[in-house]
Amino acid sequence: MNDLRVLFEECATEPIIIAGPCSAESREQTLATARGVAAAGVKIFRAGIWKPRTKPGSFEGRGAEALAWLAEVKASVGLKVITEVATPEHLDMALRAGVDGVWIGARTTTNPFATQQIADALRGVDTAVIVKNPVIPDVDLWIGAIERIYNSGVRRIAAVHRGFGTHETTPYRNAPHWSVPIELHRRLPMLTILSDPSHIGGRSDMVAQLSQQALDIGFAGLMIESHTEPDVALSDAMQQVTPEVLDAILHSLRLHRTPASDDALADYRLHIDTIDSRIIELLAERMDVARAIGEYKRARGMAIVQHDRYNDLLLSAEARAKMMSVPREFIHQIFSAIHEESVRQQIAISEAAEKKV
Ligand code: PEP
Ligand code: MN
Repeated sequence: MNDLRVLFEECATEPIIIAGPCSAESREQTLATARGVAAAGVKIFRAGIWKPRTKPGSFEGRGAEALAWLAEVKASVGLKVITEVATPEHLDMALRAGVDGVWIGARTTTNPFATQQIADALRGVDTAVIVKNPVIPDVDLWIGAIERIYNSGVRRIAAVHRGFGTHETTPYRNAPHWSVPIELHRRLPMLTILSDPSHIGGRSDMVAQLSQQALDIGFAGLMIESHTEPDVALSDAMQQVTPEVLDAILHSLRLHRTPASDDALADYRLHIDTIDSRIIELLAERMDVARAIGEYKRARGMAIVQHDRYNDLLLSAEARAKMMSVPREFIHQIFSAIHEESVRQQIAISEAAEKKV
């Protein structure tokens, strides 16, 4: 895939920023959001029209009527406009309305039959196509979808990392599993890969930090959901930021340029950053369990610190560390700190419960 090209030559900014509402809800909301994100410097506008919803009965998008609003954004605000397509019919309608590009959503990427149908319909069409990661963390499935689009002749392709569904409790709506997009980059180095902090975090207050993390790791840009009134958004209300907040986030981002000569160092750092993210995710998960234990002990009037248990925990951590050639003293320090924090959290739970009674 050495002949892949950037999505839009005219707006190949660094980083590439795509922003817009989860859904185009009305002409007014679509245009107002487009003007807002344009004022924040964004050149590529996203808005969903056909929404793949997990639960029946939730808002499924305005459908074809909203295409006219996107055409208006393109003509009067001057942004490139893209929307999600899940079927050849969607693609046909979107292209007729003059969209500049389309994205294939996570649920569609997961299904090779659906992706192939869209790929077939893309034959001979010059448009930009973004392939979001499949819902499950399977890099081959993601690459397979990208190859299907590539084989249909499209060369302006990018991937969007939007995190992965998981049954585990994590601080994220969709766990990032950073190693998956990093592997995608290793396998397809010419491919533009963006990150979608909105769907990863699922919360507007996580967008800034996840955006910075993605740029630190080396993503080429971001896709961020923005809505003029997030609180009343008809889909993904929790994760959208106003265009003003988007502007502040974009201004706060630190950009990184790795000199070409330092590729090897950049790879090592990428690897370390991924491991560090996993450590933090695991600590967050551990903290959740510790709090649940705190509730359990409190309900049964048990003491917070049980010395035998603490001793056993330290001894077994040290034994495991020895097996893996990690210095004993180092592991002792780390686990003491982790345990101390768990105790602190459990004390906070007891205090909060006492205040209530
Ligand atoms: C979206 O971008 O609004 C969307 C539905 O995304 P995903 O396919 O990543 O869930
Ligand atoms: Mn959304």
